[in-house]
Amino acid sequence: MLPLPDHCTLCPRTCGADRAAGKRGVCGAADQLLVARAALHHWEEPCLSGDPNATTGSGTVFFTGCALGCCYCQNYAISQQGLGKAIDENRLAEIFLELQEKGAQNINLVTATQWLPWVTAALDEARRRGLRLPVIYNTGGYETLETVEALKSYVDIWLTDYKYASPALAQELSRARDYPAVADAALCRMLRQTGAPVFGDDGYLRRGVIVRHLALPGHVNDSLAVLRRLAQIRKETGIPFLTSLMSQFTPFYHAEEHGLGRRITTYEYRKVVEEAIALGLTEGYMQEKSSAREEYTPPFDLEGV
Ligand code: SF4
Repeated sequence: MLPLPDHCTLCPRTCGADRAAGKRGVCGAADQLLVARAALHHWEEPCLSGDPNATTGSGTVFFTGCALGCCYCQNYAISQQGLGKAIDENRLAEIFLELQEKGAQNINLVTATQWLPWVTAALDEARRRGLRLPVIYNTGGYETLETVEALKSYVDIWLTDYKYASPALAQELSRARDYPAVADAALCRMLRQTGAPVFGDDGYLRRGVIVRHLALPGHVNDSLAVLRRLAQIRKETGIPFLTSLMSQFTPFYHAEEHGLGRRITTYEYRKVVEEAIALGLTEGYMQEKSSAREEYTPPFDLEGV
């Protein structure tokens, strides 16, 4: 395994925590890998998890902690309250192989950056032992270029958010005024790394980038600005990607205190969808408005860890 950082700069917080000495960073991570769940997940985009009623799915591993810490996080129990089980990189490699054995179509690493040294070591080990599935890096989009680069030979599919266009909104909801600039640069690097989407004969995505945007109630104008920026990135890079528009926002955790105490209305979401269509961002997925359901949040009961 890579040495643990004594001045951690793995994410854009660059908080400098001495992880090697067991100090905890802003993301909540210290010197012991924590994982909250590893199971087949059926509710990702269809090209990642297939038919929700099928026995297969995306081999999803939820990591504890998060550098971003959004006030409305649906996974707050693991991202911000520390739920997870301590394991080492050998066990993580076994988990990847167990998911493959269970019929997973891919390995889907959810919010893994704070554990990068363990993740790359485990992927190396699992590949030595027969892991052959594509690897998805499922991220809030708040990544340094160095981390994106470090994952070059490990990641096949970037499943990344583009949450906000407004620095002020990013500060209010995720305490990250630099989010738009950081996510923008990271997305361009991800696109250059994977190139255009490549699908297998079975319809599953094998390589490429999916950009998710969760439309937030009361912030349609910011969603429209995000979409305009995505269209511009598509033009500037010349590299296609899939767009995934999400309407599932549910007021979890501290959402209400930040003015997000309701779900998005049909009118608001329609405006977002219409702008995406007008901008030509039609390759990808648009959730039905009825998708605002709590079952998108899996039970965090340490299954599979
Ligand atoms: S990954 Fe965690 S410890 Fe490292 S810089 Fe980011 S917040 Fe700090």
